[in-house]
Amino acid sequence: GKVLVTGANGYVAIWVVKAFLEKGFAVRGTVRSQSKAKHLRQLFQSHGDKFEVVIVDDITKDGAFDDAVKGVDAIAHTASPFHMHADDPNEMIIPALQGTLSVLHSALKYGKGIKRIVITASCATVLEYGPEPRVFSEKDWNERSIREVNEKGRAAAPGDKYCASKILAERAAWDFHKQHKNEIAWDVTVLNPPFVFGPVLHEVDKPENLNQSVKVWWDAVVAGQFSNEDLANNGDVWVDVRDLATAHVLAITTPEAGGERVIVCSGPFKWQDFVNVAHRLYPKLPAGNTSYDPTKAVHMLSYDTTKERKLFGIKFHTLEEMTKDTLEDFVKRGWVS
Ligand code: NDP
Repeated sequence: GKVLVTGANGYVAIWVVKAFLEKGFAVRGTVRSQSKAKHLRQLFQSHGDKFEVVIVDDITKDGAFDDAVKGVDAIAHTASPFHMHADDPNEMIIPALQGTLSVLHSALKYGKGIKRIVITASCATVLEYGPEPRVFSEKDWNERSIREVNEKGRAAAPGDKYCASKILAERAAWDFHKQHKNEIAWDVTVLNPPFVFGPVLHEVDKPENLNQSVKVWWDAVVAGQFSNEDLANNGDVWVDVRDLATAHVLAITTPEAGGERVIVCSGPFKWQDFVNVAHRLYPKLPAGNTSYDPTKAVHMLSYDTTKERKLFGIKFHTLEEMTKDTLEDFVKRGWVS
């Protein structure tokens, strides 16, 4: 089979491309410009004509993916802005929402052979931070970020602008499928990952230019920019990028995953958990908060992973493995010694 991967040069997407190629799929990746295709072509050179890159310069345009969807059996739509420096919320919402809709419109028109479309959503569409620890599941929707962005606009928190973009995009995908289900042969699977960490395959010249999630990990673990208070008390839930890539393959190869949103996560963390492993492996890295006691950590968020276990049963990388492999990658790049 052949899979279309949108935003193929992104941190997550490039691992997704790799996972599909290694499972024997042919992959067509989309990027925004020729300059972004070069690194990908080099990286996957050994796969010959099983890997191709096409340029979609503006994913928000009507018909943007009309050519890209022709001849593919499935789509993994990952392209979406993920950063914390948007002023106008529409800087994030328009590409996330219109990008998703243009993929779906093109699939409706020209995706005759398509059986499944996987959307890389986020736990951002699921969770609402609150004062008490809470377990979330696929039944939950983040309504709060939409309210915040509606009420505050540009003044909304950067995280809420990002969450809103992901929520509106995911909702639009479900609605589109519902509206057109009698005209199409494909169904939709949505993956909802939390913070994604792990080694980097995409093109990055320096740590400052890392993608959002790995940049935060760098700031906490390598650059020592978090206070002791934050290291011990702040955290979230994480997944290894390689496991999320596996989930994209399983989302396409598992028939029962059709019509499901699936939370794909490894477990909760406090930043000091990564710092502890990193400092043990590389004593020159910051020790962080040496009075942190992981047995006393209160995790505010966690996810019910019943559905993932039933559908996919991924054997997730541990926090130690991910930290070790990420730092080895940074060492190879000359960023850590
Ligand atoms: P990256 O920033 O590394 O990749 C984002 C990809 O989307 C790039 O290919 C980028 O292209 C493309 N993109 C961004 N904005 C636009 C736009 N306006 N028009 C067209 N393409 C655009 O981020 P990740 O790999 O981390 O994210 C990939 C997906 O995973 C996203 O959907 C994100 O929401 C989701 N996700 C990520 C998590 C994480 O912790 N990393 C957690 C949960 C979900 P370009 O390089 O040209 O800008």
